Amino acid sequence: MSTINQYPVIDGHNDSLMYFSPPTNALISSFFERLDGRQVDLPRIREGGMAAGFFAVFISEEEAMNMVHNFDPNVEYVLPALNFDAAQKASTQMVANLFRIETASNGQVKVVRTVADLEACLRDGVIGAVLHFEGAEQIDAHLDALEVYYQAGLRSMGIVWSRPTIFAHGVPFKFPHSPDTGPGLTDVGKELVRACNRLGIMIDLSHLNEKGFWDVAKISDVPLVATHSNAHALCQLPRNLTDKQLAAIKESDGIVGVNLVTMLLREDARDDSDTPIETVLRHMDYLVNHLGIDRVGIGADYGDAPFPKDLPDVSSYPVLITALQKAGYDDESLRKITHENWLRVLRKTWKS
Ligand SMILES: [Zn+2]
Repeated sequence: MSTINQYPVIDGHNDSLMYFSPPTNALISSFFERLDGRQVDLPRIREGGMAAGFFAVFISEEEAMNMVHNFDPNVEYVLPALNFDAAQKASTQMVANLFRIETASNGQVKVVRTVADLEACLRDGVIGAVLHFEGAEQIDAHLDALEVYYQAGLRSMGIVWSRPTIFAHGVPFKFPHSPDTGPGLTDVGKELVRACNRLGIMIDLSHLNEKGFWDVAKISDVPLVATHSNAHALCQLPRNLTDKQLAAIKESDGIVGVNLVTMLLREDARDDSDTPIETVLRHMDYLVNHLGIDRVGIGADYGDAPFPKDLPDVSSYPVLITALQKAGYDDESLRKITHENWLRVLRKTWKS
């Protein structure tokens, strides 16, 4: 059996909604075509055996994209907070575009709100889309928007991207550096964590600084999750997780989704497509050693970032799975890494 049927992938993070928001603003119909240069679209999703994924609402601006595309480890990038009104406008558009994709897909894509929805997607070959906010920049201090977006389908949220918000501080891109880069959660940030627990919105710790991480660990009553981060011991970007953080995630029975962006993989944190798959395997092995096989998943981060040349887009999961097989990962381990671990964490986190 091919890896596509045997190991359907739930991917913890993709940025494909960026294609349909300024500055690109491509047509929704292009999601159903295999266009050159795209990392996520329905044909590639089918080829790669991606069964479901977290679709991020990431509000880009020029400065942020410039950093992602021209990352220089010798430069410290400190980004200012976004304007709330602009963030809410951009976010509403991106959420609407996910629903437009669902409608245009004629049943091929479904925005999932419950574990039963997700399990049905895996069973029926429908692509499950989890609505995720990468940074709570569209959420107001009264959390009114949180209630509204939850009713619309929001089921996962990072408290910050690598920018400050009224809730917390994200890690700057700085190398080498620890994730301990500033203060912890604000009072309203702590309220946000409690509200997410109450509603059943998964909290994503990727991009959060270390003091914020420990605040969430103290307050939250569900497994700790970093949807798209790697091991800090192997690549010392503040975006990656220290051994102490990994121990806390293990203790909570959480999960880390392995990120395939080259700068989060390489010892030198460089954007370099000439990065061998062995570099990914090193992170995978390290995370499995520290977290256990039940707490590692995939959070590839496809969308608009530099990847190893052998893993260029979502059609590449079978290449990764085959490399893991060759490295000795057995059938049970591969089922866990590709989808079972994500399912377990969501069962423990979502309310239904
Ligand atoms: Zn990210």
